[in-house]
Amino acid sequence: MAALHVIILGAPGSGKGTQAARLASEKGLRHLSTGDMLRDAVAKKTEIGLRAAEYMREGRLGPDEIIFALMREALAASEGSGWILDGFPRTLAQAEELDKMLIERGERIDYVIDIAVDPELIVRRLSNRRVCPKCKAVYNLDTIRTKVPGRCDACGAEIVKRPDDEEATIRKRLRVYEEQTAPVIEHYRARGGLVTVDGSGGIEEIFAEILRAMK
Ligand code: AMP
Repeated sequence: MAALHVIILGAPGSGKGTQAARLASEKGLRHLSTGDMLRDAVAKKTEIGLRAAEYMREGRLGPDEIIFALMREALAASEGSGWILDGFPRTLAQAEELDKMLIERGERIDYVIDIAVDPELIVRRLSNRRVCPKCKAVYNLDTIRTKVPGRCDACGAEIVKRPDDEEATIRKRLRVYEEQTAPVIEHYRARGGLVTVDGSGGIEEIFAEILRAMK
């Protein structure tokens, strides 16, 4: 069977990262998250990281040249494997560049999953989100609490609030999403094969809906 290629779309805080990780482990896919790649680069203080840190802190999109370079490298390193793209493409221009990259590589997208959630629910979710900087586990002060307050269940590191999860930045990221990323949904809807999933429920419920949609 050909390797499965999936794109997951959704506003910041829609749960797309969590669902992408679940789907990757269920289907044996590589989870290619541009946000994670950029956060790694920032942590390692690479040249890309130093450039990206400011954009990320302000909730703006990073420059396409950086993102395309990361994506090209990630796709090349995933040759022959299935993958799920999380956080890319985020603009129409990125979707068009991805189309070109895939034509060059002789690969195609099997599913585009869009997770739809009400923006006010997103503000609540993201304000309460905490992440483990070491192993990337994601928690929520409301719904997914750690066993020991403030410590990651998986690796024991101190969990933190992402700098871009402050309320003003969350609202800015949602505006950026509406303006720049919502048209990407139309790009894939027009092509056919777009699946929209209700992202207001719990993690298990949403995951089950995604699996059903991919049958
Ligand atoms: P995420 O973890 O996907 O919410 O991404 C966090 C931040 O990384 C975003 O707010 C952007 O600043 C940057 N970023 C991630 N993916 C992209 C992308 N495809 N294009 C531009 N910037 C991105």
